[in-house]
Amino acid sequence: MATAPRGRLQGKNAIVTGAAGGIGLETTILFAREGASVLMADISEPALAKALAKVKEVAPNAYRVETIKCDVSKEDDVKAMIESQDGWGGTDVIFNNAGIMHADDADAVDTPEKIWDLTHNINVKGVWFGSKHAVLSLRRHKKTKGSIINTASVVALVGSATPQLAYTASKGAVLAMTRELAIVHAREGFRFNSLCPAPLNTPLLQDWLGDDQPKRHRREVHFPTGRFGEAIEQANAVVFLASDEASFVNGTDFVVDGGMTRAYVTPEGPATTPPQ
Ligand code: NAD
Repeated sequence: MATAPRGRLQGKNAIVTGAAGGIGLETTILFAREGASVLMADISEPALAKALAKVKEVAPNAYRVETIKCDVSKEDDVKAMIESQDGWGGTDVIFNNAGIMHADDADAVDTPEKIWDLTHNINVKGVWFGSKHAVLSLRRHKKTKGSIINTASVVALVGSATPQLAYTASKGAVLAMTRELAIVHAREGFRFNSLCPAPLNTPLLQDWLGDDQPKRHRREVHFPTGRFGEAIEQANAVVFLASDEASFVNGTDFVVDGGMTRAYVTPEGPATTPPQ
């Protein structure tokens, strides 16, 4: 890969978890284009290989992009992932983004306990381990600033009418944990923010909706914009949070939802919908 690490993340070493998925891959590409050295982490090695090929194709001037297999629910994996950046000069940015929404997740009555545990092990413990080892690394390398971005969801703010209790509770835990981390580590210069995406077009959502177009439409009308978001729209927000431009942005629930959580939209759409 070429040597031209310029941009808003120039000189920063970043880790993205869930890097082979929708939001993670788009974020990796933007991080690389903005001059960061990026370690892409995911549980799936084949998916990682495909994702790395994509990064090389669309960001040919990326400075340094590598992959590592990591199951974020295993502390040893997360520790090894972050320590593997010690030789790069230490981690400056980590995007704790890996997460699952299981098809058997349901309401209070029907959610199997093993699905609750699986969801929380990945979505909550994964963020805790990523945050913990990021702090240890930042201290080890005597960094005076660092940015940790944890992926939550709008369901942590407004709940979901389609029951997915384990997922919703797990994302609420991410918000609460991130706020506390932000306060506790602020004087060390370490910023923690949550990203709250609304449903967007990624494999996670597509797997859930399948080919059910009416089901898709019933959800899209609840967006003031009349559409789901795109992964790139989340990635743009993550670049900002990772960059020094966000030096005074700490402890936020950074909502990227097209106005969804601010709106009650009738099936006809907002009043200003242009005539067809
Ligand atoms: P995705 O399914 O496209 O990507 C998730 C990635 O995480 C996959 O590559 C998967 O292999 C990886 N992963 C799963 N378990 C893992 C583990 N234990 N360790 C490491 N990697 C693991 O999903 P996405 O839409 O890109 O989701 C990214 C994050 O955004 C998730 O935390 C998700 O909950 C959240 N989110 C997504 C949406 C949406 O509509 N897609 C909305 C709100 C929040």
